[in-house]
Order: sequence, then C-alpha cells, then structure tokens
Amino acid sequence: GLVDVDQVVSEAVDRARTTAEAKKVRLDIGGERGTRVLGQHDLLVTAVRNLVDNAVAYSGEASRVGVGVRTDGDLVEIAVVDEGIGIAPAEQERVFERFYRVDQARSRDTGGTGLGLSIVKHVAADHGGDVTVWSQPGRGSTFTLRLPRAEEHTSVTALPATDDEGAHVRRSAS
Ligand code: ATP
Ligand code: MG
Repeated sequence: GLVDVDQVVSEAVDRARTTAEAKKVRLDIGGERGTRVLGQHDLLVTAVRNLVDNAVAYSGEASRVGVGVRTDGDLVEIAVVDEGIGIAPAEQERVFERFYRVDQARSRDTGGTGLGLSIVKHVAADHGGDVTVWSQPGRGSTFTLRLPRAEEHTSVTALPATDDEGAHVRRSAS
C-alpha cells in the first residue's frame, strides 16, 4: 500500500538511537517532508535501518550520521550519510553481496554477518528501486536508496494494469 517515507525514516532512526547514543553519534533527519512510495512499510523500515546501523557501526565516536529525503522527478531518494571509515572503490560493489564484509579483522568487533546490505538491495529491487554507494576511504560514505514516488492520488486500482508502472505496482503491492 501507500507508505509514508517520513514515518519509515523516523522509525528506522528511532530503532538505531540506542546504539548511536552509546557511541555518542549524533543522528539527524532532514530534507523533504510528505513523500510517499508504494510498497511494504516494514520492509522499508528494515532497509533504512540497516543503512543507519551501518553508518553508526562504521563511524568513530562522536561523529554525525544524517538521513536526508529528497525527490528527483519520479523518484524519492533516502540518503544515509556518515563521516566514518569509508569503503575503498574496489570494494564498493562487493559490499552488497551476501556475507561480504570489507575487512574481517576490522569488522570483527562489530559482530555482523554481512547480510544487511544484501537485504537492502533486495528490498530496493522489490520496490522497483535501487541502492547505490558513494564513498571516500577515511572520509565517509553515503548510501542512497531510490524508490519510485507515489503521487498524492495514486492508488493501486487507479493505475492502468498494462503499462510498466502498473506492473511494478502489482509486484510491490503483493
Ligand atoms: P550485518 O549488517 O549483517 O550485521 P555487516 O554490517 O557486516 O553485517 P552489511 O551491512 O551487508 O554487513 O555490510 C557489508 C560490509 O560493508 C560491512 O561489513 C562493512 O565492511 C561495509 N560497510 C557497510 N556499510 C558501511 C559504511 N557505512 N561505512 C563503511 N563500511 C561499510
Ligand atoms: Mg550491516
């Protein structure tokens, strides 16, 4: 159904707050309000939460993590920005693979399994969108989840069943 992006972002951030506080990481939400996408609320919260958890986990103490929402034409972009350790160019594609972790020794104390980003990638694809990374080692990373935007008047039944968008809606609404 129709999913409120503001709600997705605030739930994801709320659930990451305890971890962030323990590390004195400041978590900020900004950008455009009132955007909506078609899909599954809980899956989208999981996806954004995985990105926020990573941003906190792979950043130093007292750094800042931001979650920003903007629209770009028919897309809603949710960007999770950190000032953390970053990811080398050669690893940037691989981090979305299942079980892939950049540096086992370095990531050992964060205790993850390497599944978070592969889940984000699947949730994005299931919603007709994608997830990309921009990063500079030692400076930080930005993960951007892009999703097709739902217009105010959009409803599953109001869309023609035959065009591309209609096909997408049936997939993500099932
Ligand atoms: P899990 O999410 O399953 O608990 P994980 O965090 O290791 O474990 P992913 O979320 O899939 O797994 O991330 C894969 C790897 O990508 C991480 O181990 C880390 O090396 C790197 N990575 C992910 N996000 C960031 C980030 N924001 N900054 C730096 N490195 C990151
Ligand atoms: Mg993770």
